[in-house]
Amino acid sequence: ISPIILSFLLVLLIIFCIWILWRIILKQKKLEDMKNDFISNITHELKTPVAILSATNETLLNFDGIHDAEKTGRYLRLERDELKKLQVQLDRIIHLTRLENKEGFQESLREINLGVLVNKVADRFRSLPGVEISIDNKLTDPVIQTQALHLETVLSNLVDNAIKYSPRDTKPVVIHLSEENQYIQIDITDEGLGIEKSQLPFIFDKFYRVPHGNIHDVKGYGLGLSHVKSLLSHLGGSIGVKTEPGKGSTFSIQLKKVWK
Ligand code: ADP
Repeated sequence: ISPIILSFLLVLLIIFCIWILWRIILKQKKLEDMKNDFISNITHELKTPVAILSATNETLLNFDGIHDAEKTGRYLRLERDELKKLQVQLDRIIHLTRLENKEGFQESLREINLGVLVNKVADRFRSLPGVEISIDNKLTDPVIQTQALHLETVLSNLVDNAIKYSPRDTKPVVIHLSEENQYIQIDITDEGLGIEKSQLPFIFDKFYRVPHGNIHDVKGYGLGLSHVKSLLSHLGGSIGVKTEPGKGSTFSIQLKKVWK
C-alpha cells in the first residue's frame, strides 16, 4: 500500500472514531437532559402544593379563625385539595421507584377475574372530575391466573395516559376485552391527541416524552410506558399501539390465556 492511501485510510479511521465519540456524547447528553427534566418535573409538582399549604397554614394561624367559620372552611378545603394532589404525586413516585428497583417482581400468581380487575381500575379514575370510562367486556369466562398487581399497574398507566392526553370534552375512554385463540386482548381507546408517527419508535423509552407544545400542557415523567412494557414482558404479554394525530389512540395488550 502506498503511503498516500495509508494516510488517507488513517484519516478516515480518525474521522470515524470522532464521529462515534460524538454520537456517544450526544446520547449521554440527551439522557442527562431527560433525567434533569424528570427531576425538575417532580420538584415542581411537589413544590406547588407545599407552597400553597404553607401559605394557607400561615394565614390560618395569623387570624382568629374561630370567629370566621366561613374563611376557615375555605382555607381548610383548599388545604384538603392540595393534600390530595400531593398524595397522588407521592403515590406515583413511590410506585415508579418500586418498579424501578424491581421490587415486587416476585409477586406470586393469583386467580383473578379480569372483568372485576378492569372495573376496579376504571372506578378509581371515574372518581376524578369529568372522567368517563366505558367497558366493553366480550370475555365468556374472564378468570385467569396472573400477577394481578402488575397487571393492575399496566392498566392504570394506560388508562391514566388515555385520560391525560385527551382534552376535557372528548368522548369517554373505552376499555375493550376480547379473546382470540390462545390470547386475551385488552384495548384502551381514547379520542385524544394521538401521536405523530415519527414519535412512535421512542414512546416506550425511559424518560421519553413527546413534545406536545402548547396544545395540552400535560405533566408526566416519561416512565409510564417503559414500565408498562417491562411489566408486560415479565407477564409474558406484549403491547402495540394504533394512533392518529388529532383523532386518538388505541393501546392494545395481548396476554397469554392462562385459565384457572
Ligand atoms: P408520560 O405520560 O409521563 O409522559 P409515558 O411513558 O406514559 O410518559 O408516555 C410517553 C409519551 O407517550 C407521553 O409523553 C405522550 O406524549 C405519549 N402518550 C402516551 N400515551 C398517550 C395517549 N394515550 N395519547 C397520546 N399520547 C400518548
